[in-house]
Amino acid sequence: MGTKARQILGLDPDKLVELLNRAYADEWLAYYQYWIGAKVAEGMMREAVVQELEEHAQDELRHAGMLVGRIIQLGGTPLLTPEDWYKYTNCGYDVPQDPDVRKLLEQNIKGERCAIEVYKKIAEFVKDKDPITYNLVVEILKDEIEHEEDLETIQKDMQTVKS
Ligand code: FE
Ligand code: FE
Ligand code: MG
Repeated sequence: MGTKARQILGLDPDKLVELLNRAYADEWLAYYQYWIGAKVAEGMMREAVVQELEEHAQDELRHAGMLVGRIIQLGGTPLLTPEDWYKYTNCGYDVPQDPDVRKLLEQNIKGERCAIEVYKKIAEFVKDKDPITYNLVVEILKDEIEHEEDLETIQKDMQTVKS
């Protein structure tokens, strides 16, 4: 573990590890929600939606990797079992029971909005105290903002198609 890396933090490293683990749980659940959503999706503009969902799934998995790297660097233990994803998640998991693309978009937009708030809060927590984590979460935050926008754009395009 990074002994000096922990010492230079201007905050409680255990508290930070907990926040990162909660976000880590969110990323795995978001990954699976997108991944399985892309498999079951039905309806309007299906192919465009599936492509976007698949891309986002890969991004969420990459975010999980970024977070786990930092957790370990800080001497923390990452969540070791999927059961913990449900226990620690901020944003939860929306079961894609209804495969209609419009419903999937709604659910995933809700998830992105939650993720944006989570990363904004972590960024505020570490700002001026831990530049490494700060840069990492801002990078993820940028992706989540892009995700929300991409899904909202598809939603809008669908409304144009309908009328
Ligand atoms: Fe993410
Ligand atoms: Fe996202
Ligand atoms: Mg996208």
